[in-house]
Amino acid sequence: KKWVYLFTEGNADMRELLGGKGANLAEMTNIGLPVPQGFTITTEACTQYYEDGREINQEIRGQINEYIAKMEKITGKKFGDKENPLLVSVRSGARASMPGMMDTILNLGLNEDVVDVISKKSNNPRWAWDCYRRFIQMYSDVVMEVGKKYFEELIDKMKDNRGVKQDVELTADDLKELAYQFKDEYKEKVGEPFPDDPKEQLMGAIKAVFRSWDNPRANVYRRDNDIPYSWGTAVNVQSMAFGNMGDDCGTGVAFTRDPATGERGLFGEFLTNAQGEDVVAGVRTPMRISEMEQKFPEAFAQFKDVCQILEKHYRDMQDMEFTVENGKLYMLQTRNGKRTAQAALKIACDLVDEGMRTEEEAVSMIDPRNLDTLLHPQFDVKALKAATPMGKGLGASPGAACGKVVFTADDAVEWANRGEDVILVRLETSPEDITGMKSAQGILTVRGGMTSHAAVVARGMGECCVAGCGDITMDEENKRFKLGGKEYHEGDIISIDGSTGNIYDGVIPTVDAQIAGEFGRIMAWADKFRRLKVRTNADTPRDAKKARELGAEGIGLCRTEHMFFEADRIAAFREMICSDTVEERVEALDKILPYQQGDFKALYEALEGNPVTIRFLDPPLHEFVPTEEADIKKLAEAKGKSVDEIKDIIDGLHEFNPMMGHRGCRLTVAYPEIARMQTKAVIRAAIEVHNEHKDWDLRPEIMIPLVCDVKELKFVKKIVVETADEEIRKANSDIKYEVGTMIEIPRAALTANEIASEADFFCFGTNDLTQMTYGFSRDDAGKFLDAYYDNKIFENDPFSKLDQTGVGKLLEMTIKLGRPVNPSLHIGICGEHGGDPSSVEFCHKIGLDYVSCSPFRVPIARLAAAQASI
Ligand code: ADP
Ligand code: MG
Ligand code: MG
Repeated sequence: KKWVYLFTEGNADMRELLGGKGANLAEMTNIGLPVPQGFTITTEACTQYYEDGREINQEIRGQINEYIAKMEKITGKKFGDKENPLLVSVRSGARASMPGMMDTILNLGLNEDVVDVISKKSNNPRWAWDCYRRFIQMYSDVVMEVGKKYFEELIDKMKDNRGVKQDVELTADDLKELAYQFKDEYKEKVGEPFPDDPKEQLMGAIKAVFRSWDNPRANVYRRDNDIPYSWGTAVNVQSMAFGNMGDDCGTGVAFTRDPATGERGLFGEFLTNAQGEDVVAGVRTPMRISEMEQKFPEAFAQFKDVCQILEKHYRDMQDMEFTVENGKLYMLQTRNGKRTAQAALKIACDLVDEGMRTEEEAVSMIDPRNLDTLLHPQFDVKALKAATPMGKGLGASPGAACGKVVFTADDAVEWANRGEDVILVRLETSPEDITGMKSAQGILTVRGGMTSHAAVVARGMGECCVAGCGDITMDEENKRFKLGGKEYHEGDIISIDGSTGNIYDGVIPTVDAQIAGEFGRIMAWADKFRRLKVRTNADTPRDAKKARELGAEGIGLCRTEHMFFEADRIAAFREMICSDTVEERVEALDKILPYQQGDFKALYEALEGNPVTIRFLDPPLHEFVPTEEADIKKLAEAKGKSVDEIKDIIDGLHEFNPMMGHRGCRLTVAYPEIARMQTKAVIRAAIEVHNEHKDWDLRPEIMIPLVCDVKELKFVKKIVVETADEEIRKANSDIKYEVGTMIEIPRAALTANEIASEADFFCFGTNDLTQMTYGFSRDDAGKFLDAYYDNKIFENDPFSKLDQTGVGKLLEMTIKLGRPVNPSLHIGICGEHGGDPSSVEFCHKIGLDYVSCSPFRVPIARLAAAQASI
């Protein structure tokens, strides 16, 4: 088997095998761009490494050695050579880009002898020692997992001793001394001397990159971004280009369009006399890419050409890494750039207008999950105008965030878990901060540019970020900072604007987002291409209106129990629960009827004739009973019972497993009068609205929850139909209605052919169906799911991403059994999964008629539905 490919042997279509980085290095090589040459070890080799118990087997080792020889031939350099030593970078590269998640080692191949050679040859000892100390640092960190901080402490100490502020001010001798200190540190921590043999270094580094596929932050990133663990990472071994040889050298990152706004034009940063991560890590604040033109006119002109070539070639915005060595340009990476949702929409539309992409392609280019940010509140324009910023950084990732200041990622997680909105304020962020960044409303950093870690990751997560606010005087240790003449402590409230970079003291009110401009254009295209309808889960006219603005085509789930909790109604409902006779229960329910009828009327009106699915009472009764002594007393008085009697009734409702207890249609079987009341409310409201709006196609869909047997449905349906028909006859109306059922118990799926004979529609309640299929409660699963992720038993939470293998099979079976029995049966889904893009795709594939999701997810579902059918 071929495990290794030269860059000249690959191309962009081979990303599964070569990873994104490797495939694109090959592609750039093919189209004649200046790329330092090397080879790629395949993702399959990574998988093999794990299969072999985290070892690189003989065959793969053999091929690696073979390719080192080939590379030595191509470059005319040799590992450890006394004349012309080969130095390489060892870079990870997964199929889907995972920026900063895995590890890279630069300058590999150095030892003291080689340092001497390159130092003499270049007549640049400073550079030679700088490379060596960087190599030791990266190798120790990545391969031996000796924490970076030990080395950084040594650097800081050195800088203090020399009275300098920046790395570049250290002399050759300083760096040499540092290299020795680093080696000592290594020996002390690892227990062995630092390896001198380049081939040993290389195998160590390759192994470390394979291993980094399994590091915790990569695992978290994969779970968030739906990247399967089984994919593995490729490893790229590439000869070095040096940006740290002096002032005619440098390194940069650039985008062909602005990743925050999508605006056309080169956008990026450049740092002279620097290597690799220096730009991203925010070690020094880099210059804008445009300033590079004055310092490196030739390399810049060439780079501009390269940008055009790449954008035309990939027909998408490119994110590139490059290095200038003694005035000469080298391309180190290109990929379709990560971008904010806003930029994604603009770029997609622009590419269509520029004739580079079709509308279908434009729709497919948008990651539906990203839209989330656009749907969330923005600062109120008026309030924003009236406010004076107390400072300004770079608007690195748009959005509006307002929250309490915290200083560590752990605090961010902890505070967020107790429901606080927080802004994570850091000198700079690093990949370890990922979970904290996710928990925060926004991120504010003191150092770093538009391509710093914080900026890139925040954009990826669609989270608001202001980066590089150098005016902040930071005291991380004591959890405080100064800005605009004021000192801020943990818990103080600030607001940050990720578009302008402005930072404000206190709260700035926010307003809801709108679908307009490019967003509107893309959504209109999406609607053109999709087959699947999108409804919403809404219980109130307000949510329903919001959802309609966002494009919902109906209500797929209205949970009626939510309407019982308001003050007057809950009292009546409790009286119903504590009644001894049917008559008493009916009397109590009659008090609720007018309220519920009003609710439904408002819902129908908000939907203007679009379908409304109303689910009858679902939760067990004990969820409604009073817990406060005063409420119990009130209830006792209303029912003419003693407090003890009421307490006995409440105790009697206790269930060991309420999720599988007396709920759903089982309530109707015991208390038909509840369904009767709800039917009256549904139908009476419909008659009223129908009379006012004859042109609307109003047809309420009554949905019976938790059915597991057709006889159950038959029983409940009979009650509903008798009641409804009587109402319609009395009112002399011609209103139509439907009765259908949820499919949320495996037995219902298994007997869907029987159930279909009694149902006008099915709707998959995949929350319950998932819970019942797995046999674990969604309220308790959180406690053990982490252990399942850690042990690679699960990669995702089956409650947020539909389990297509098991639960999905039940869905498919239901459809297959149900449709032939009742050809007019319409089928939808209303669990949480209805708004998850990969689940929506599945729903399209198996032929559902609609998905229903929470209002804010409606646009996501519309887009995902379109992508599924393109
Ligand atoms: P990441 O995926 O985190 O960006 P990379 O493998 O791209 O990691 O490398 C990290 C940094 O090192 C980048 O800035 C990259 O440009 C630089 N780099 C990688 N390989 C080389 C090389 N052969 N010569 C010079 N710089 C390199
Ligand atoms: Mg990179
Ligand atoms: Mg349910």
